[in-house]
Amino acid sequence: MIDSHCHLASERFAGDVDEVIARAQAAGVTRIIVPATDLADAPRALALAEKYESVWVAVGIHPCDAALVAEDSWLEQVVAWSEHEKVVAIGECGLDYFHAPPEGMDWASYKSLQATFFRAQLALAEARHLPVVVHHRGDGCWADVVEMVREHGGRVRAQFHCYLGSWVEAAPLVDEGHCISFTGVVTYKNAGAAAACARDARPGSFLLETDAPFLAPVPYRGQRCEPAHVTATAAFVAAARGLPVEELVAQTEQATREFFPRLS
Ligand SMILES: [Zn+2]
Repeated sequence: MIDSHCHLASERFAGDVDEVIARAQAAGVTRIIVPATDLADAPRALALAEKYESVWVAVGIHPCDAALVAEDSWLEQVVAWSEHEKVVAIGECGLDYFHAPPEGMDWASYKSLQATFFRAQLALAEARHLPVVVHHRGDGCWADVVEMVREHGGRVRAQFHCYLGSWVEAAPLVDEGHCISFTGVVTYKNAGAAAACARDARPGSFLLETDAPFLAPVPYRGQRCEPAHVTATAAFVAAARGLPVEELVAQTEQATREFFPRLS
């Protein structure tokens, strides 16, 4: 089983990351893709990848961290990291209209800054022939994210991570070569559209992820999420689709490997 999006380089795993990875292994999670979010956690993610066969990395700047990046050389650093043999994608990048701008910045400047970071990372992904891990959250964000991804139509493939929309909305993007992925949110009682999409999505169009340390699936909801918990999301999605869990796991593993060709 693969956890296709897990923030193992987060400070919240700093004290026990070895045990967390051991528990993932024991639960049958053989690959964990760790997206970086800023300039500080990318080196930590790469160090984990060098230590553990199961850990692979995406490098990029999260939209919520864009305003905190002080170095003009951020893109050069991401470019250099993207050459590491265990980097499978650019990200986590994208747009976030949910969290308020930092003190002293208005929404217009904040959105424009996020767009600059996102477009630079999409261009890098195209140049390096890597997929992108895309974050989107907040009103109006989805349309903008899709528009910017389509500026690279046919040349960059996006994982729309923590997808909460409908299959009807996702299907044309999947036809264009992108994929969606489901977090533990699909297991929540109020998940509605996300759970329906997990039931209806075409086989091969979706991946599974934890987004740990966030969004622990039922029955772990409210706890710190960890990669072993992807098994609960897999079980839920398999049940919703009327499939044996082994079959769902095999399908999503194959889809993940096809989406991230550098993952081995
Ligand atoms: Zn994330």
